[in-house]
Amino acid sequence: MKSKILIIYTGGTIGMAENSETGSLEPLDFSHLNDHIPELSRLDCDIEVHSPFEPIDSSNSHPEFWVKLTNTLYECYEQYDGFVVLHGTDTMAYTASAISMMLTGIQKPVVFTGSQLPIGMIRTDGKENLITAIEVAASQKDGEPIIKEVVVYFESRLMRGNRTTKFSSEHFDAFYSPNYPSLADAGVTIDYHFEQMWNVPSKIMKNVNYCSEITIVKLFPGVDIHWLIPAAQEGKLKGIVLESYGAGNAPSTTKFKNDLKSVIDCGVQVLNITQCFSGTVYPGKYETGEWLDQLGVIQGYDLTTETAVVKLMLALANFQESKEIQTFIQKSICGEIDVF
Ligand code: ASP
Repeated sequence: MKSKILIIYTGGTIGMAENSETGSLEPLDFSHLNDHIPELSRLDCDIEVHSPFEPIDSSNSHPEFWVKLTNTLYECYEQYDGFVVLHGTDTMAYTASAISMMLTGIQKPVVFTGSQLPIGMIRTDGKENLITAIEVAASQKDGEPIIKEVVVYFESRLMRGNRTTKFSSEHFDAFYSPNYPSLADAGVTIDYHFEQMWNVPSKIMKNVNYCSEITIVKLFPGVDIHWLIPAAQEGKLKGIVLESYGAGNAPSTTKFKNDLKSVIDCGVQVLNITQCFSGTVYPGKYETGEWLDQLGVIQGYDLTTETAVVKLMLALANFQESKEIQTFIQKSICGEIDVF
């Protein structure tokens, strides 16, 4: 039987076409997708297109949008064999990460893709991205979907969604998974790397509670964080993703330590990840990292910034105790973290 695939169009560059008269970019009518990509009718699957909400530039994305998308996927889950989510590239890694953790236990492919050039432009990368994303969503082995998780497909690479980051604003090869190998590479054929895939049978579950009173602090020489203290004291700041140096190091000056301690004493949870493009934090490797542990900072190991943000938002909304928050963050829910 042919796979039944649902394409969910949310906006972004991929959904644009050049007006041949004016040269300006205009949103495409996705209900007539076949007119723009006639190749779709040659794919061996049944495709439906759904635009459940007003298309957005993904820079306008918000956790409320993640909730809406989670609800849409949850409601349509039983009716389709696989899903392709067309999304702007700017915040695609955040949304893919959020969906992977707001909708756990997925046993079907949810493939995010987008493009650097609109699908209606002659040199677009969107056509190949879309066609391969559909093939991935429709791919089965022994009557079972090959992919059973949230993934990003972009320019020949299929990656676990919550491990991705956008690393180029201009190259077609714009997404990368710095700390986890690709799940498939698409060339002449699509080569699946079965040993890398998430394949844990479980019941599909929705968790759409989030707390957005968090911020990201990226360290730099001379960084001063005293301005965070009033927000922490007023209860307006609940969590910080700390992008520290290298293997998880921060300045060990008395001022920085005292300021961070004041923030933590107000109940703010601090999640430490590295600002390096790849690698992990190694708690206790250097004295400049060790004191963070002693203050109660949560080590985020190899989480990407995107996934750290999402996980902290979920943890703060679902748990009260610091210990529970730490346990949730350091547990691999769907392959997003490696703790050693
Ligand atoms: N600003 C656009 C977006 O993220 C960029 C893109 O789609 O590539 O929606």
